Amino acid sequence: MARVYNFSAGPAMLPEPVLIRAREEMLEWRDSGMCVAEMSHRGKDFMAIAARAEADLRELLKIPANYKVLFLQGGASMQFAAIPLNLLGSGGKADYLNTGSWSKKAIAEARRYGQVQVVASTEGERFTRAPTQDELALSPDAAYVHYTPNETIEGVEFPYVPETSDTPLVADMSSTILSRPIEVARYGLIYAGAQKNIGPAGLTIVIVREDLLGRALPSTPTMLDYRVQADNDSMYNTPPTYAWYLAGLVFEWLKESGGLDGMARVNERKATRLYQAIDGSDFFNNPVEPASRSWMNVPFTLADPALDETFLKEAKAANLTTLKGHRSVGGMRASIYNAMPEEGVEALVSFMRDFERRYG
Ligand SMILES: *Cc1c(COP(=O)(O)O)cnc(C)c1O
Repeated sequence: MARVYNFSAGPAMLPEPVLIRAREEMLEWRDSGMCVAEMSHRGKDFMAIAARAEADLRELLKIPANYKVLFLQGGASMQFAAIPLNLLGSGGKADYLNTGSWSKKAIAEARRYGQVQVVASTEGERFTRAPTQDELALSPDAAYVHYTPNETIEGVEFPYVPETSDTPLVADMSSTILSRPIEVARYGLIYAGAQKNIGPAGLTIVIVREDLLGRALPSTPTMLDYRVQADNDSMYNTPPTYAWYLAGLVFEWLKESGGLDGMARVNERKATRLYQAIDGSDFFNNPVEPASRSWMNVPFTLADPALDETFLKEAKAANLTTLKGHRSVGGMRASIYNAMPEEGVEALVSFMRDFERRYG
């Protein structure tokens, strides 16, 4: 069987050139005589791989020098706890925007450690849009403001970066990081699980402004303390070495593919193509307000849900896989991260047209 177009929300597709390079380097990385997965994380070969990956990520995102980049484990979900533990401080209060399934989880976890103020929520509208800046009732005493720029399950993406004046803005970028350029200086902290747009599962990236380090609550587990991780170059214990290496290969691929400006152009084209196909038909529907539609995750439903199983079965036969929507939303979801080629989106659009012609 040929490689398929995999529309999974995560773990997701990796760029084929990255997989080929990893295969070439599998048995012996350069002249080390071993696979990267077999190397000591403190040896000079792995240290070079790790440093190169960080330097490339800094270049791609133009990360200012007063930010630390941490390569951690535990997924974005571990950060739901690490963030309040590190940032709440003595005031114990934080503002959260409730815009979908992932922000709800972040809120529930933060409530274990402090007072969470939900300063905007679109839950009453079934999470079909991002709230506007005017709707954010930010508190003067919050230690930080947390939001989810791209809600992976609902397919809702903020078309702007919330303005929070002096309060640090914390962003769960798991499903949107590296999809377009961002201005890192607008954030206090950015975090992302790797398995959507960075690399394989098992790696979590945290980009944190230096002045936010050293505030962890005394009960914070050592492993979750950003200060400890920063002081140890993310090697307080054994880091996820192979995932870090593969992420580095993805960063090199991004640099060779036109950087984030180039990615943004391609991603916008892919998303526009798919939304036009959905909007141009009475058979397919996407419920999200157009200005808040995600470039990365495109949920859609069929006019007749009884056809869902047939759609998925025939799509799979056409090498278009993992299109089933999240169990909480139903229908379909096409995740079209950086590694999904434009031909994959074209193939999906043709399949959808053909399906509608036969069943619509
Ligand atoms: C996938 C995802 C998560 C959870 O990531 P894990 O690494 O599995 O913990 C959290 N937030 C967002 C926005 C996601 O897309």
